[in-house]
Amino acid sequence: MKPRPSFPARLDATLAKTRPNPHGAVASSGVSVAKPIPKTAAQAAPAKPVVLPTARAKASSHPLHHMPQGHGMDSEAVRQRMVQKLAGQGVTDPLVLGAMGAIERHRFVDSALVNQAYEDTSLPIGLGQTISKPGVVSRMIELLRNGATGRVGRVLEIGTGCGYQAAVLSLVADEVYSIERLRGLHDKARENLRHLRLPNVHLLFGDGMAGYAKGAPYAGIIAAAGGEALPQAWVDQLAVGGRLVAPVVTGAGTQALLVLDKTPQGVRQTLLEAVHFVPLKSGIA
Ligand code: SAH
Repeated sequence: MKPRPSFPARLDATLAKTRPNPHGAVASSGVSVAKPIPKTAAQAAPAKPVVLPTARAKASSHPLHHMPQGHGMDSEAVRQRMVQKLAGQGVTDPLVLGAMGAIERHRFVDSALVNQAYEDTSLPIGLGQTISKPGVVSRMIELLRNGATGRVGRVLEIGTGCGYQAAVLSLVADEVYSIERLRGLHDKARENLRHLRLPNVHLLFGDGMAGYAKGAPYAGIIAAAGGEALPQAWVDQLAVGGRLVAPVVTGAGTQALLVLDKTPQGVRQTLLEAVHFVPLKSGIA
C-alpha cells in the first residue's frame, strides 16, 4: 500500500513491524457489535471541501482535513497494536477494546502531535487542557460499564475536551451527554466529531459541576477533570444501579480514581489507583 504522505513516517515504520493481532477476535467482536462504526461513517460522509492549492499548505493543514476519507487502513494496524497493549494492561471488556480500536484518536489531536496519537500518553488539546492517555480512557470506561455485556444506558461525561472520549463512549453506551465549560473546546469537539455523525452524542456547553439534569437519571457518569469533592448533583443524577467514575483530589497534588455505586441500600465508594487529571473548575469561560 502506498503510504499516505500526510501520515507521519514513524507510524508507517510501526506499521511495517506490526505482527498479527493475538486479540483480534476479541477486538473485532467489539467492533462488529458497535452500531456506528466510524470508518463506515467516514466513508459515507462526503469529504469536507478544502482548498489546498500547494503541497506546503497541505502539509500544514489539520489531519481532519487531509486524512483521506475512507482509507483508514493505514492507521488501523497502529490502532490495533494500541488495543493489544490495552488488553495487555488488563482491559478485557470487548466492547471497550472494540471502541478503542475503532475511534481514530489521531483525528482529535493537533497535526503536530499526530505521530504520538496511538502512544499511551496524554496530549495537549489547547486552552491548557489534555486528552487522557488511552490506557486511562479504556480503564475508566471499563469501570463505568461495570461488566455490562451490551451497551450501558445513558451516560454523562463531564469534560468533553476534544471529544475523543465522547466518541469512544458513543460505541459502548446508548446515549452520551457530554458537557464542557470552555467554549473553545466545546466548539472544537463539535468540529472533531462532525465527520463521525454520531446521533447518540449530545454536546453541551456549561458547567458540568451541576451535571445535566435534563438527561438524568444516568446509568453512568464519568468525569475527565478532578475536584476536591464530588458534586452532589452528580450523585443525585445517577440512577439507582448506576456507577460514577471520577478522579478526586486525595491530597496536595495527588488524585485517585473514585468509583461510586448507587445501590438501593445507599452509596458505595471505592478509591482506586492514582491518576493525573486537569482540575475540575466551576463556571464557564
Ligand atoms: N474527555 C476529554 C478530556 C478533556 S480534559 C477528551 O477526550 O478530550 C478535561 C476537560 O474537563 C477540560 O476540557 C476542562 O475544560 C473540562 N472541565 C473542567 N471542569 C469542568 C466543568 N466544571 N464542567 C465541564 N467541563 C469541565
